[in-house]
Amino acid sequence: MTGGASSEKSGLSVEQQSPEEAFELLANEVRVEILRGLGETPDEALGFSELHDRVDVADSGNFNYHLDRLVGSFVRRVGGDGGRDDADSTTGGYELTHAGQQVVGAMYAGTYTAKANVEPVSVGWNCLLCGGEMVVEYADERANFWCSTCDEGAKFSFPPGALDQFEREELPEAFARWYHHLMTRLFHGFCGVCSGRMDGEFVRLPGGTEENPQTSLVEFRCRRCETVATAAAETLATFHPVAQGFFAEHGFDVSARHPTQMWGELDTFETVVLSEDPHRAEVRFGHEGEAVVAEVEPDATVGRVERRSAGD
Ligand SMILES: [Zn+2]
Ligand SMILES: [Zn+2]
Repeated sequence: MTGGASSEKSGLSVEQQSPEEAFELLANEVRVEILRGLGETPDEALGFSELHDRVDVADSGNFNYHLDRLVGSFVRRVGGDGGRDDADSTTGGYELTHAGQQVVGAMYAGTYTAKANVEPVSVGWNCLLCGGEMVVEYADERANFWCSTCDEGAKFSFPPGALDQFEREELPEAFARWYHHLMTRLFHGFCGVCSGRMDGEFVRLPGGTEENPQTSLVEFRCRRCETVATAAAETLATFHPVAQGFFAEHGFDVSARHPTQMWGELDTFETVVLSEDPHRAEVRFGHEGEAVVAEVEPDATVGRVERRSAGD
């Protein structure tokens, strides 16, 4: 396989196709239509003639050829012989591979095509740093929760094709849910770009002080594509299951609110640096007489985490 790669560990074999080869395969209208046709029922294999019916192409003589080209990368032949040589076969068929699903998903998500903007929407809470009014807006394929007074904020990618699924007033929660989803994947160690494995590190930016906990960041680097993604150490602590339970019991749905909103509404919220080298810190959330304390470790994981009653 030209330009491809393969690797083998005990009991695990992986063969990879080069990106050039894979993308070249997609530069054809019939093939894109085949993927779209299979994507209409993503959980179900389609027989040859069923798929052919679904793909409305003028040049049907080439249908076989193009389908064959996709098999092995974006399409998988399942059961029997795929149904081609046996028109009555009900067991065989074609389905999307993971990469095929990603391509179809990207068509819907509008990753390659859509352009969208949303004017600032008030989110109904105030800036943690200055008390100014927080708003959310959308531009350049990113949602941005930011303070209209001090300009501080948090930007993250959101698929443009998903915007029209929501009313304008639903967007702040939709963005917050998406953010929770992105951060959960990151904290679980998967790259948002290529799904590769990520390694985390708890870093302290130059100039960071105990009074300014936002300068303590967890940083994740992908072993495969070298993408680097960062988040506040406090966000890592907030999304720990024990902390999520604490927040839920006090009426905060961690998956539906941006973390800074919840931090601002807690009775107490602080980060205490435990050691400089290696860098460790303790994030403390307190509300209604109870607290959660979560220790952020040098490898950007949460180690010790405890529920306490206030005053402990
Ligand atoms: Zn502000
Ligand atoms: Zn990656």
